[in-house]
Amino acid sequence: MAYVITEPCVGLVDTSCAAACPVDCIHPNLREDDVRHATILYVDPVACIDCSACMEVCPVEAPMLEADVPERWEPYVAINREFYDNGFEAAERMLRAHLAERGASDGR
Ligand code: SF4
Ligand code: SF4
Repeated sequence: MAYVITEPCVGLVDTSCAAACPVDCIHPNLREDDVRHATILYVDPVACIDCSACMEVCPVEAPMLEADVPERWEPYVAINREFYDNGFEAAERMLRAHLAERGASDGR
């Protein structure tokens, strides 16, 4: 089990969670150039120790335990993982595809 960053982070990305994480498993962080282009931050599902520090500092309650992710945000489990499997660009592509698909299904 790990924490997952979900939709309320989209477009906000204030990085409070990355600064608070005791095992540095939220990326990109302020030391990484990609943070300037990030639409969301991503939790490493292998390195996360479920400490909840990210959840406690987030202003919009975006990080949550995987088991607590509501059905509508389940794609964020794979989106977070994609960053660590295939890198920043792949994760951002997956996120954009999800947001576009969801917008279409919402009739927007
Ligand atoms: S639960 Fe703890 S270890 Fe996991 S991402 Fe959040 S701050 Fe980092
Ligand atoms: S603290 Fe919340 S809004 Fe800020 S980057 Fe982390 S998950 Fe996103």
